[in-house]
Amino acid sequence: MRVNHALAAMPAEYLFARVQERVALCQQLDPQNPVLRLGIGDVTLPLGAHIAQAFAQAAAGMGTPEGFRGYAPAEGYPFLKEAIRAHEYAARGVDLDADDIFISSGAKEDAAALERLFGPDARIAVTDPVYPVYADANAMAGRLGAFRGGRWERLHYLPCTGENGFEPPLPEEPVDVIYLCFPNNPTGTALGYAALKRFVDYAREHRALIVFDAAYRAFITDEAVPRSIYQVEGAQEVAIECCSFSKFAGFTGVRCGWTVVPGRLLGRDDSGNTHSVQQLWRRLLHSTRNGVSFSVQRAALAVFDPEGQKECREAVAYYMGNARLLLEEARACGLAAHGGVNAPYVWARTPDGMDSWQFFEFLLERARVAVTPGAGFGPGGEGYFRLSAFNTPDNTRQACRRIRAALR
Ligand SMILES: *Cc1c(COP(=O)(O)O)cnc(C)c1O
Repeated sequence: MRVNHALAAMPAEYLFARVQERVALCQQLDPQNPVLRLGIGDVTLPLGAHIAQAFAQAAAGMGTPEGFRGYAPAEGYPFLKEAIRAHEYAARGVDLDADDIFISSGAKEDAAALERLFGPDARIAVTDPVYPVYADANAMAGRLGAFRGGRWERLHYLPCTGENGFEPPLPEEPVDVIYLCFPNNPTGTALGYAALKRFVDYAREHRALIVFDAAYRAFITDEAVPRSIYQVEGAQEVAIECCSFSKFAGFTGVRCGWTVVPGRLLGRDDSGNTHSVQQLWRRLLHSTRNGVSFSVQRAALAVFDPEGQKECREAVAYYMGNARLLLEEARACGLAAHGGVNAPYVWARTPDGMDSWQFFEFLLERARVAVTPGAGFGPGGEGYFRLSAFNTPDNTRQACRRIRAALR
């Protein structure tokens, strides 16, 4: 078999594997003294009781003639599409059709699959630092050229730094697709209406597509920050939005998300003919997917019941309490720290000119605390590290005390 050479040439999965390996080794050398992990990108609370009950009830029903379901519709059950339309969009003044919403097993697989919509030589832009899937999926499709010196040859990087307040600049050369994730993983920062509008206006003017990953929108506490790119005028003509139940409803192990591909979104082929992107996406899904489990979609529906909403609000508040603590502590330690207000991550500069990995090793040895080195999220992450609020308040407080002592 001749393998996909672009896949075979991918750099090794480096970040989380190396963090894991270092933490395991450190733990082995001193098993009595646990390493506290502030690098976790996974929720730690169990599902809310109301949501878990709906999940269990639907699963038990599968063993009865009335409750049994075979293949789910490839686009998702209408009951869930309608609930998302009403609660996540109409309630915020965004007018979508339920058919614009496509249910999936999570935002990551959709963020990865969307590249199949693009021409083979489409020019791609991502923010830097960045959640890796957007670049990786395009690299595997052969769109990004070679990986040299930590950068993809043909990828357009939009640097997000302390200097620009983590607001990406518009691309300086023409691009076809811009991936944006706000509130952002890893920087924990959000974009306001005006900043999002600059991108929407750019995309309209240059006939570019925005892929907007809104996995953390439920963590926004600032009223002025849009929850959806579609709150920006004209966005339905240029943007696809990916969302997930993973973080706000604790579905990382249940697996459910959705992607919005508005009916008004058009693309052009090589001959200049226009196509409905929604129809292309539907075509693709029908060929490649057989739907998401009925019981999972019932669990997701329960998220929108008043009890489910309350459970999710409480979980988000629990994590955001940790985020607040991490931000305050990092600043009290004299570090330049960002995020933590509209997202469950704090992004801070390493002290004393240490690079990301040096500081990771320093904290692991001196404080027995594991953080995530910023350089793992792209060249723009060098000199930064990420703290995650997905933890217990006790662990978070204890980790903060240890970091403070190590930095004194
Ligand atoms: C966690 C996360 C997701 C969620 O992915 P799922 O596949 O839905 O679990 C999506 N985007 C970003 C940026 C994330 O951090």
